[in-house]
Amino acid sequence: MSGVCQGKPSSLPTSPSSSPTHGQPLWLLAELTYKCPLQCPYCSNPKDFADFSEELTTQEWIKVFEEGRKLGAVQLGFSGGEPLVRQDLGELIKAARDLGYYTNLITSGVGLNEHKVAEFREAGLDHIQVSFQASDETVNNMLAGSKKAFQQKLKMAREVKAQGYPMVLNFVTHRHNIDQIDRIIELCVELEADYVELATCQYYGWAYENRQQLMPTRAQLERAERITNEYRVKLAAAGNPIKLIFVTPDYYEERPKGCMNGWGQVFLTVTPDGQALPCHSARMLPMEFPNVREHSLDHIWNDSFGFNHFRGYEWMKEPCLSCDEKEKDFGGCRCQAFMMTGDAHNTDPVCSKSPNHDMILQAREEAETPAAEPFLYRNERNSRVFCKG
Ligand code: SF4
Ligand code: SF4
Repeated sequence: MSGVCQGKPSSLPTSPSSSPTHGQPLWLLAELTYKCPLQCPYCSNPKDFADFSEELTTQEWIKVFEEGRKLGAVQLGFSGGEPLVRQDLGELIKAARDLGYYTNLITSGVGLNEHKVAEFREAGLDHIQVSFQASDETVNNMLAGSKKAFQQKLKMAREVKAQGYPMVLNFVTHRHNIDQIDRIIELCVELEADYVELATCQYYGWAYENRQQLMPTRAQLERAERITNEYRVKLAAAGNPIKLIFVTPDYYEERPKGCMNGWGQVFLTVTPDGQALPCHSARMLPMEFPNVREHSLDHIWNDSFGFNHFRGYEWMKEPCLSCDEKEKDFGGCRCQAFMMTGDAHNTDPVCSKSPNHDMILQAREEAETPAAEPFLYRNERNSRVFCKG
């Protein structure tokens, strides 16, 4: 399916601007489904996900995995939505392991049980990452839109550890939970986590709609980073090998992130209905991306317009085009540039050299005032509203 239900401008050309050099895709992200029992208001899935229903079959996914390996991909992430919704997940894990991928399941833990953890272990799954909304049950369940989510996550995090997996936890932080960063870290220690990603919310998809409700103040962010650093020192001194990874939001930076390590350089995402994307947010852009039902991954990666257009530097506008930092950050994120300025060729507004940087300054200012509006939850009913445009 190529029709996306949001109205989009058609400002992009339809043939590649150049044939810049690129390597092989190393990471393949298989978004198995957009179905999910939770309703996180910061979900990065497309706002119009309810419009896409025809998921790839088991055999179609396995063909994608085979083609990905032939191209050189070595890591395979299973995500969604909630990938556990797919009844064939064990079969897909086994197929991926047989092909030689290092496999990673990214899950909310809802829908998991001890039998499934064992089944996935048997199938060869290497790594499970369980995501939490908060360290506090009430806040967690309020954000997840589910009264049972927190206890289930705790139980499954313990089960994952008990069955011999490295304990990898992910907390998306924002203004409603960032002040509890000490309690979040204490919970991770109690769960004997090996790696913890404390990732400040990035504003794409549903998170962009809820930005005013989610964005922390600079003071909140600085306090959280300071406390995380203090814990790092304290835990290391106590001989605890836990790794705390603190990801700051680019809205408080002066330069954008080197998005996806460069467009079409390392990452390849396949959506539930088979669209191939250079990053998981790119579906929002006003351009056609190829579908694995119609094209081989080889063609998609090497020859398609969607993957070639933003490779290299020729597509850039000023100030990026003549900037001596462009090899570091590639002009920032194309999706952020499009969301905020309406043109994906523009400099990412996060950059202080961007003529649109005032949008970021304004967002920082707005973060100082609590939002009056309630969250817009990520669910089918709200998605249908976006589908109507
Ligand atoms: S972010 Fe929340 S709603 Fe979105 S897929 Fe993950 S668990 Fe589901
Ligand atoms: S102007 Fe463009 S290339 Fe230069 S630092 Fe800013 S985003 Fe990066």
